[in-house]
Amino acid sequence: MKHLKILIYFIIILPGSLTARENDYIPVRFEKISESLYVIFGGHGANSGLFIGENGLIVIDPKMNQRAINEFFEKTALITKIPFRYIINTHSDPDHILGNRFFPPEYVTYIAHENCRREFTEPNWDGSQSEWKSPEYAPYFPTVTFRDKLDIYSGGKKIELRYFGIGHTSGDAVIYFPDEKTAFLGDQLVLGHKPGAHPYKGGNTFENVRTLERMLSALDAEKFVNGHVSEVLDRDTVRDYIADMRRIQSNIRAKITMGYTLIEIRNDYSDRMKMFVDNVYREITEKRDHN
Ligand SMILES: [Zn+2]
Repeated sequence: MKHLKILIYFIIILPGSLTARENDYIPVRFEKISESLYVIFGGHGANSGLFIGENGLIVIDPKMNQRAINEFFEKTALITKIPFRYIINTHSDPDHILGNRFFPPEYVTYIAHENCRREFTEPNWDGSQSEWKSPEYAPYFPTVTFRDKLDIYSGGKKIELRYFGIGHTSGDAVIYFPDEKTAFLGDQLVLGHKPGAHPYKGGNTFENVRTLERMLSALDAEKFVNGHVSEVLDRDTVRDYIADMRRIQSNIRAKITMGYTLIEIRNDYSDRMKMFVDNVYREITEKRDHN
């Protein structure tokens, strides 16, 4: 039944075109994981994270526009007066990085995977130029990058930034809080539809599956936060998602073997699955499935 519930929260995400329509606005909502960790749902932009460290606050994927970030700042101020210290981007899609602009770059450190930083300036999904090419965005780029792993220590706590491989893009970071057994996955996993991957940023659905499997076996996590579902997920849900992706990939492979065209295969799936189906089809026919 959990899946049904999740489907209700389904949000269509067109990469690079998340327009801020006021009538769609859902207020920013903080969900407490522990005394020091919150998940922030609602507002414009992706789900965010807030960690209250002894030496500063850590924000994951800050909200993307003024209204949402103001709500975020107001609600944060009710919890703590500790200053912001680190801003972490899980990947380079606009809904995950535009919020960097609302923090003072002279006081915060922006952190992302090294591929993610490069992808800030890659063209958008429609081929248009990234706004991050503009000089006014220069102060808000990641100032610290990592390749495989980066740890942040705060008092007795450790925060792990991990890279498990290609997935939604080529630079997806997983942010893991061992004390809370909570992992922030960005858009590596989006229930309700399967965005699969952004090929224009090196993403690949077959790699995505393997990367998620590596993540599950490496982390002792019990709670998972993805970019766009308004609830914290459990381990079984992540496992089911991976199995579902594998099943769809196998079905598409079988159809291709039987001579079906992409148009015919698409007809078997709902609109929200089309981007995923297109990606899988292209990866198989262009031999980028690596199986
Ligand atoms: Zn997103």
